[in-house]
Amino acid sequence: MRRVYLDHSATTPVDPEVAALMMTYYTEKYGNPSSVHGFGREVKQALEQARTQVADLIGASPNEITFTSGGTEADNLAILGTAEALRSKGKHIITSCIEHHAVLETCEHLEKSGFDLTVIPADEEGIVSVDELRKAIRQDTILISIMHANNEVGSIQPIAEIGKIAREHGIVFHVDAVQSLGKIPINVEEMNVDLLTVSSHKIYGPKGVGALYIRKGVRIVPLVHGGGQERKRRSGTENTPGIIGFGKACELAGQRMEEDARHQRKLRDKLMNGITKGIEFVKVNGPVGESRLPNNLNVSIRYVEGESLLLSLDMLGIAASSGSACTSGSLDPSHVLLSMGLTHEIAHGSLRFTLGRQNTEEDIDYVLEQLPKIVERLRMMSPLYDLAIHTKQA
Ligand SMILES: *Cc1c(COP(=O)(O)O)cnc(C)c1O
Repeated sequence: MRRVYLDHSATTPVDPEVAALMMTYYTEKYGNPSSVHGFGREVKQALEQARTQVADLIGASPNEITFTSGGTEADNLAILGTAEALRSKGKHIITSCIEHHAVLETCEHLEKSGFDLTVIPADEEGIVSVDELRKAIRQDTILISIMHANNEVGSIQPIAEIGKIAREHGIVFHVDAVQSLGKIPINVEEMNVDLLTVSSHKIYGPKGVGALYIRKGVRIVPLVHGGGQERKRRSGTENTPGIIGFGKACELAGQRMEEDARHQRKLRDKLMNGITKGIEFVKVNGPVGESRLPNNLNVSIRYVEGESLLLSLDMLGIAASSGSACTSGSLDPSHVLLSMGLTHEIAHGSLRFTLGRQNTEEDIDYVLEQLPKIVERLRMMSPLYDLAIHTKQA
């Protein structure tokens, strides 16, 4: 059976070059980077090279990069660490309704412990409202956390504009850039970002590694205390093979960014056009054009359940997702799609396809051959579809 992986926003395969490099740091160069001997020093050097590779991809200096166990930890460190550092200055935090759970749940946790939280809305394309953000700012606002690109609908947020507003008000600005890293350019200087979250396994690096960019001069209280690694911001012996793999993945992503975007945009558009032409009652969720990640397609297919679609696709070897990976398994519709104004019924019938480097025209042809058949079969069991067809004919 053909296997087609179209869930790259959930995770990506490790690039073979990255995997080969990592292997040497498990078996040969296994020193502890804190050790003074040669075994330690050679690893320390590679660790610092990785720091430079990550920094280069986002326009930062290496000493502004703190490695973590992933995007989730980096989001937690940014938000909890800022709240703790600035709690005497103010207790108000602003975020948006389309954030990843790693941001939303962390902010809600703070709200329970006495912080005030304002969650600003997004429009029907999944883009946050800069006007609402401006209106939400108070004297005691200490942190704004807005993602760069949304993981479900691929909508790209006006980060530079928000960064300017945050800077004018002297508010710390955190950006979750897990989905945009390596796909579109990021520059923390041009965007006026103070804290930026990135993750390795979404860009063909290993799982369990990420980083937080912390602008020079920005204060953060650590979550993990101990041996003082990572300039005391994140104690614990470094995951050296993982970090070094992440560094390499960043270097490759920088080199390949334009080529990857061109390739994936072309296939994504082919998939989008094929689905909207080949299936009735379909709606594309999120923006079209420049404000959307090149590899993301999110569609609502009416009169079918997203979960049933996923299972049927899976039986044919096709991997997609409905809602976000972290919430699938639960039957709650996506909080992002609901916030964009979709009804529960339409949000339930939504599918996310996220393309990657290895996808081919043949992959897309296979999906376009199978999906309409699946939809037709599932709709035959839907009384609502029956009604819709008859209303249309009448
Ligand atoms: C995947 C993801 C995360 C979490 O990163 P992990 O490395 O898996 O912990 C955070 N934010 C966004 C937008 C993501 O897509």
